[in-house]
Amino acid sequence: MFKITKVLRNPRYSWYTKLKAKTKLATYSIMHELLQCQLTSVSLFNLLLMIEAGQFLWYAIHPAYTFLWDSSFAQYPRDAVKYFQLDQFFRQGDQGVFYAALYVVCVAQAIVLISIFIILVKYEENKRRSSTLVYYTLRLLSYYTLLIITIGPLPLFNTLFKMFNCTDDDPLNNGIECYKGYNLANSIMAYLALAVSVPSCFIAQLLHIDYNPASSIPFAGPQSNLGMFKLLMKVGLALYTSLDINFENQKPFIIVYSIVWLFVLLWRYLAQAYFNPNVSIYVICSEALVFWAALGTCLQSFMEKRNDDDLGVYFFLCGAPFASYTFYILFNRQRWGFMRLKVKSLKAVVQIERHLHVVCEMIEEVHHPQFRIELEGLLRYHSKSCRKATDQCICYTLASNIARMEDIQEEKKMWYQFLKSLLEESISMFPKSPRLHLQNAYFQQDRLQNRFKALYELMITEENRPDLREEFSIFHYKYSL
Ligand SMILES: [Zn+2]
Repeated sequence: MFKITKVLRNPRYSWYTKLKAKTKLATYSIMHELLQCQLTSVSLFNLLLMIEAGQFLWYAIHPAYTFLWDSSFAQYPRDAVKYFQLDQFFRQGDQGVFYAALYVVCVAQAIVLISIFIILVKYEENKRRSSTLVYYTLRLLSYYTLLIITIGPLPLFNTLFKMFNCTDDDPLNNGIECYKGYNLANSIMAYLALAVSVPSCFIAQLLHIDYNPASSIPFAGPQSNLGMFKLLMKVGLALYTSLDINFENQKPFIIVYSIVWLFVLLWRYLAQAYFNPNVSIYVICSEALVFWAALGTCLQSFMEKRNDDDLGVYFFLCGAPFASYTFYILFNRQRWGFMRLKVKSLKAVVQIERHLHVVCEMIEEVHHPQFRIELEGLLRYHSKSCRKATDQCICYTLASNIARMEDIQEEKKMWYQFLKSLLEESISMFPKSPRLHLQNAYFQQDRLQNRFKALYELMITEENRPDLREEFSIFHYKYSL
């Protein structure tokens, strides 16, 4: 990291600036190591996403809704998602589950704190990750981080918030006096756990990222604040359920919930979710499913009359695959639409980045006839308005040689040269965008194997006022090279 080391070495800076730089460096180093030892597979990550969707789905088909399904058959979809979060047990007043959850949360936070401490101490000692202790601590911490960027926050905050809001009419407090003795001791413990879990959740959400399209990590994706928004949603849900114990404001709740999910879907539509196509499809379908369920419940809330036949459940179950599929088709169409645009006609960096990613994905699969046709179309479209000299842009050479190419690797290389000229064109449109320079660094190293150029691009990215996440990405990539 060019800037941080500069601050640390320069005696001119005040101790406060240095402390800030040192904290940043320590956080970046730990997050970098966690990403390095990440062993998540696509199927494991998809499983976590499925459970996360189940957690959100629960609040859309909550059994407390007085206007929603009331038949024995309606119990099945609820049972299917009941165990993904703790809300149901808390509502039933299951003290055993509540205290077990509380102790698990507190012990987990203590372990996290100790792990971070061990890593930092070992780092200070020899600056190297050589000891077995550090290795296993990092491994443990990496699984924890994976949980708190997916399914962890909702049960965690649900438990802690429930502990803080002690009321006598809550069945969970049966036989326990609020804010005295046993309850007070547990509350103090819960406050300590909260003090560790809030920063760890937000830091993980912020920095447990990978912006590199060539990365093998399943949760690698383009820059987006949607993950942070979902974390805030989880905190909000946990807070709401701990305050409104009897779920009295059902109608306003479900209306807001549906609107929020519509907003999430729109957000998802405008910005690609993950680089991995399997994970991407999965998250799109599951979010559409949650929205569909919330919408169905929202519509039923206006009918007033409680629906005691199975019609509502059938409406939800039969419509859900259809809703997911529709959204998937829309998403794919939009992706192809991005492919057919020209860099010059795009107005925002986000759109350009999206366009370049789609082109890059197609080059990876250039042996596929459909992708080849699309790419050739793009090439022709580009050549028509290309004002560069023959030796300046690869498009002329590529267009005249494309039919004769036999080796697929050679061909890919030429297509990457073409993509390089598109990237250069977009950087000339937004020369100060750290986002595009960062993508260029990834591209130079991973597709063209030009390490020197990649490092140079990282340096330019750093000069152009990157935000915190971009700065961390520079750090992470520089040390992975
Ligand atoms: Zn050209």
